[in-house]
Amino acid sequence: MLSHVPAEWKKIFLSSVIVITAFVLILTNETAAQPSPNRQNADPVDNYTIIHAGALLAMPGAAPADQSSIIVKNERIVSIQKGFLSKAAFPMKAGDTLQIVDLSDRFVLPGLMDAHVHLRNQPSLRRRRGPGRAGGMPADFAFNAVLYAQRTLSAGFTTVRDLGSDDQSVFAVRDAINAGRMIGPRILAAGSNLSVTGGHGDPTANADLAERMRLGVCDGPQECRRAVRTQHKLGADVIKYMSTGGFSSQTGLAQQMFLEEMKAIVDAAHQLDMKVTTHAYDPDAIKDAIRAGVDSIEHGFLLDDEGVQMMKAQGVWLVPTLSASMPPPIFGIKNAPSVALRNKYKAFERAAAAGVKIAFGTDAGTFTHAQNAKEFDLMIKFGMSEMDAIYAATVSDAQLFGLEDDIGSIAPGKLADIIAVTGNPLENITALHKVDFVMKSGRIAKQDGVMAAPFTYPPFREQAE
Ligand SMILES: [Zn+2]
Repeated sequence: MLSHVPAEWKKIFLSSVIVITAFVLILTNETAAQPSPNRQNADPVDNYTIIHAGALLAMPGAAPADQSSIIVKNERIVSIQKGFLSKAAFPMKAGDTLQIVDLSDRFVLPGLMDAHVHLRNQPSLRRRRGPGRAGGMPADFAFNAVLYAQRTLSAGFTTVRDLGSDDQSVFAVRDAINAGRMIGPRILAAGSNLSVTGGHGDPTANADLAERMRLGVCDGPQECRRAVRTQHKLGADVIKYMSTGGFSSQTGLAQQMFLEEMKAIVDAAHQLDMKVTTHAYDPDAIKDAIRAGVDSIEHGFLLDDEGVQMMKAQGVWLVPTLSASMPPPIFGIKNAPSVALRNKYKAFERAAAAGVKIAFGTDAGTFTHAQNAKEFDLMIKFGMSEMDAIYAATVSDAQLFGLEDDIGSIAPGKLADIIAVTGNPLENITALHKVDFVMKSGRIAKQDGVMAAPFTYPPFREQAE
């Protein structure tokens, strides 16, 4: 809608920055007593990695290749070559480093993604404090998010979308990872979920307007636009709003937000170049969200056939979160009402069969973190092929996140987000339960099943210090 306008303004802004920078450089040179050596001509040192992949699924959707070498230069993939390239055959200049990673007996594929996690929490956390203790402070959540982020990366998930943390703790964790202060997946964070007063995402008792905005509570288009802008100002990458009630808040599953409120949210977010997703069960609420221009539907268990056709026509993604609806033995939830609902309406099966775009997302955090890959088992149990399920967690999620130029496949120019497993997940998907090699942005985070010590990532969106 407005895509050409921000692009133009960005160009004008960038050229102003260049002019100002050049001016400052001229001033600096004239006032300097000693001219500094011209560092621009010095060749920077490059760090190369050659990965020997026994089997390589470089582009999910296309058949895997055998015995290949992936050449990684700094944080990005340079090329993929047949066979196992040796060190001797590799041209390097003085100061460059080169390591060979032997995954010749492994199956190598792009880093996995999860479009729906809650990194700050998981069920076991609630049991950790005794009676009379407050708990649940932002710092508690931030420290837990650090741990859960590391476990998530260790499980092979190199990019995740965090869909809701009211205390903004996940922003701090995202920024620390981007600045290279700790190991973790690339995080796109929503901050507080937007909800109407008393709705599924309203955590307030009796807060003033400023506090309500911080916590994403809004009624009417004007407040909802302000709520979007507030989350953006606080640091959100993506907006999530609650179209309907939900299980955890016991607010039912009916529609809670009007179409005009949804439209205000979507338009305000898109103007700020943010994607919008919505938690939705009620089929009419889902259809209003599609009319409002939402980018994806979370859960969607009650999606009806008209909704399926609308999603397909408008290219709206479904994030099925099957994991959050499953009975024992997978997650130990006994008689969860979501199970009966999911199994009755089979929204995932109907949407996938109709050709609706499916993005991989689990709702991890409502169950124990680092079990994200069990979602694959469920997708296959409900009829999807192994290849399509892996496609959903790589190519599709990258598109949903708007990051398809950087991640989603192993291809020249893309960030080197690469994982490896023993066995062939195209034949037995449970191979993805045990990821023993993880590279993110060209740095090895896990090798032979062991996580690396903290290190610095190349800057991603944020400047390193
Ligand atoms: Zn959720």
